[in-house]
Amino acid sequence: MKNLNSMNKYFWLVLLSLAAFTRVDAQYSICGSDEYYQQQIKKNPQIEQDRINSDIQTRAVMYGGAASKVSISPDAELLIPVVFHIITTATHPVTTNLSACKDQIRRLNEDYSATNSDTTNIRPIFKSRLGNAHIRFILATKDPQGNPTTGVTKDTSILTYQAGDSVKSVIDWDHNFYLNVWVVSNINSSSLPKGSTIAGYAVFPWDGVRRGKSDGVVIDHNFVGYTTDRTLTHEIGHILGLYHTFQGGCTIGDEIDDTPPVTAANLSKCNSWPTSDTTINTCHNDVPDLPDMLENIMDYASCKVMFTKEQVVRMRLYLTTNRVSLFYYNTVAGIANEASLNTAAISVFPNPTTENFTVEANGISAGKTVHIKCYDMMGRLHLDQAVVASSEGDFTQQIDGSQIIPGVYKIVLYEGNEMKAVKSLVKE
Ligand SMILES: [Zn+2]
Repeated sequence: MKNLNSMNKYFWLVLLSLAAFTRVDAQYSICGSDEYYQQQIKKNPQIEQDRINSDIQTRAVMYGGAASKVSISPDAELLIPVVFHIITTATHPVTTNLSACKDQIRRLNEDYSATNSDTTNIRPIFKSRLGNAHIRFILATKDPQGNPTTGVTKDTSILTYQAGDSVKSVIDWDHNFYLNVWVVSNINSSSLPKGSTIAGYAVFPWDGVRRGKSDGVVIDHNFVGYTTDRTLTHEIGHILGLYHTFQGGCTIGDEIDDTPPVTAANLSKCNSWPTSDTTINTCHNDVPDLPDMLENIMDYASCKVMFTKEQVVRMRLYLTTNRVSLFYYNTVAGIANEASLNTAAISVFPNPTTENFTVEANGISAGKTVHIKCYDMMGRLHLDQAVVASSEGDFTQQIDGSQIIPGVYKIVLYEGNEMKAVKSLVKE
């Protein structure tokens, strides 16, 4: 819904926590991202200032006519490598396996391409608002050391029980190149009303950029694979900058104009959808006055099946700015993702750059011809600089970036014809 002037910021904070939790009925599993965020800003209030600034900038691009820092076609498919970290222990076993993770990826890909079959349940008034995010998730194929992986790891730790952020210390892969998903026995829900549990929680992008190792999603294993649940779809919405549709209640909002305002989480709604609850309309300050969008993935209703077009715009803006290194564009040019190559093999700096940049690589054989190629997100080649490595090992080359226009690029390093390494570069 529409939003949000600066004098409302304080109230936004208060509502943020209340909206998620005061109307929660007992015996329900909910998202813990808001509560988690409140804990983070108590430790570091700067995060909240970053959120406010980030929202102002994003809103200026989405609704104010400001230019985006990056220019990527809205239907260019962006790929995100995912790793599931299964954390188990004998007394609280987590049995999620590779097959379940593959099934979960399939479900994510349906939801993020608007190809999920239950979009037929969207009411006619909202059908035209259905957004296709053109985002595809893949299980990582290489670990951070460059070794083959299934994209699913398994570790034993009691931290899987009543899990919180400490479970992330068991294992984490570089959040710049992998979306880390920790699958745990259960999540510490002691702060919730009795009988309620947290199904998952995520780190927002304005927080994740500084966070490093603890960026990602923690999810209860009962919500991964084999279910019709959309917990991970919802949590990744937060990873990509979406709020709950009910975030600020009727008056403050969720930074999105094509989601109607909602008072509070519609948690126990539409269990027999689409024959029930279709007239729920908790806010009447929108014009025209539309019912709550129970179909929205960022509410809690059991009939959530869609992102809106404007939610999609916001997610792609965050993916191509705060989380620019996380995605890649799969093209005929064969641009690989960072997670499929040795990420330690190349550095590109400064990044972002305003003009020139330096490429450093290691593990290059003396006498070999190295090509440094610069592709845009459509896979078009903008620069191809060939250099013969003069000595074994490290390799440094300064690149004249004055010829490439502002945007997001992939810098790909080839040794002979073999692709060795890739890094994202932002030219400002
Ligand atoms: Zn949530």
